[in-house]
Amino acid sequence: MTRVFSGVKPTGHLTLGNYLGAMRQWAEEDQHRSDALFCVVDLHALTVDHDPARVRRLSRQAATLLLASGLDPERCTVFVQSHVDEHARLSYLLECVATDGEMRRMIQYKEKSVRERERGGSVRLSLLTYPALMAADILAYGTDEVPVGEDQTQHVELARDLAVRFNHRYGHTFTVPRATRPKVAARVMNLQDPASKMGKSDDTGPGIVYLLDEPDTVRRKVMRAVTDGGRGVVYDRAERPGVANLLEILAACAGGDPEALAGGYDSYGALKKDTAEAVIEALRPVRERHQALCADPAYVDGVLRTGAERARGMARPWVDAAYRAIGL
Ligand code: ADP
Repeated sequence: MTRVFSGVKPTGHLTLGNYLGAMRQWAEEDQHRSDALFCVVDLHALTVDHDPARVRRLSRQAATLLLASGLDPERCTVFVQSHVDEHARLSYLLECVATDGEMRRMIQYKEKSVRERERGGSVRLSLLTYPALMAADILAYGTDEVPVGEDQTQHVELARDLAVRFNHRYGHTFTVPRATRPKVAARVMNLQDPASKMGKSDDTGPGIVYLLDEPDTVRRKVMRAVTDGGRGVVYDRAERPGVANLLEILAACAGGDPEALAGGYDSYGALKKDTAEAVIEALRPVRERHQALCADPAYVDGVLRTGAERARGMARPWVDAAYRAIGL
């Protein structure tokens, strides 16, 4: 059976981008057709400036939202990365296979290191080596497919390269994984700045729809979305990124094709109104399940405990095999 692995970082509240670009596909498709693991990758949250108590809180919230988004612990494995030592154990071996140059070429490293310096902070070494840990997350499970949004494609490519290089150098050990993407909304953009992605760790709150936003907040944010100059509603990602983003969000939430949907609107106002309502409807079941799960913390504890045990059992043979292949 196909093995699928993916994760979310607890660096902020989860967004509509995380949901449409990744989580929804995990719940609706991946867990039904594969042997899947979904993880809150909390060690990755330590690569940038953070408050430890907040990371802990956000980790718990992200795990609860994974379940609220429809992941069924009877069908897939849901766990927290730091509960499974194999990730860090394998990451070191992959750092020994990766090069400094390929790490420095990662777009996210370039962007985030500039941001850290602008904020007056120093750049943590782990921000540079982050893709080795992400490769370990993936390779530790013999993963075939990694369903991610467009922004993560480069990191999955690197994981592939490291798997191939390791296999070549030490003998066949790892499955070579590939990234998969949702058909629409693989890159949801910030409503206030459609040139940048809707990222949870950015501080531009008004352009970000969070999964736990109240319906009125969603409505306000979508109605105030930046639209483009030019008349008429057309789907053109390059020239009209604000409108294209709304059309993609609407298509992802209510069904249909962004280009075909454009033909049904003659004003931005009507498009925004329908988009807001479609987002509210799409998020309603997630918010309701989240509320129910928060009332039953023992259940969530149990899922994460069982998930970590299961994940450990799946990862250990792969990681042991990597150490053995090197002769350690
Ligand atoms: P971020 O901190 O940017 O939200 P994560 O690594 O936690 O990043 O993202 C979890 C998943 O959500 C990844 O598969 C990522 O590609 C996807 N994702 C994040 N932001 C977006 C977005 N704006 N549009 C589509 N997918 C996204």
